[in-house]
Amino acid sequence: EDKTSIELNRVIRKAEVLIKEDLTMNRIELKKELSPDIYIYASPVQLGQVVANLLTNARDALEDAEEKVITLRSYIKEGNGIIEIEDTGSGIPEEYQSKIFEPFFTSKAIGKGTGLGLSMCYSMVLENEGDISFRTAANKGTCFIVSIPLTRS
Ligand code: ADP
Ligand code: MG
Repeated sequence: EDKTSIELNRVIRKAEVLIKEDLTMNRIELKKELSPDIYIYASPVQLGQVVANLLTNARDALEDAEEKVITLRSYIKEGNGIIEIEDTGSGIPEEYQSKIFEPFFTSKAIGKGTGLGLSMCYSMVLENEGDISFRTAANKGTCFIVSIPLTRS
């Protein structure tokens, strides 16, 4: 439903606008390494929610970090448009890694997290025939990778 051909960086910028003030208030630096003119076939609303959710998680992960940087990337790989959201937070502990996409899994204090963000991201990415994965390292940070098919012309 409501899928269309959209420029990947447009989706990224819309999500960025939603969280920009929040990042500034938390002294988080936002870096961008974006490739232009990547067109994906997806629901702009859903994909915007995915990116906004991942940015919110990155912000939370940086709360106690010394270096507070989020890097947003876009590029093409094997017929897919890729978005990466990387943070310099403490990483995802090994024992959480297999659970983070489950509904209601949260490591955050009561009232701070619902544990629904990533499970919603997962379903929304699947609905758009895409894929979501992550790489993480203790005390280095975490990078979420969202992959969505390119528009076929
Ligand atoms: P919530 O943010 O409400 O806790 P999510 O589904 O968005 O729920 O995330 C689930 C859990 O995954 C988080 O509570 C946290 O433990 C872990 N997580 C998600 N993103 C990150 C990240 N960027 N760095 C470290 N841990 C993360
Ligand atoms: Mg969340």
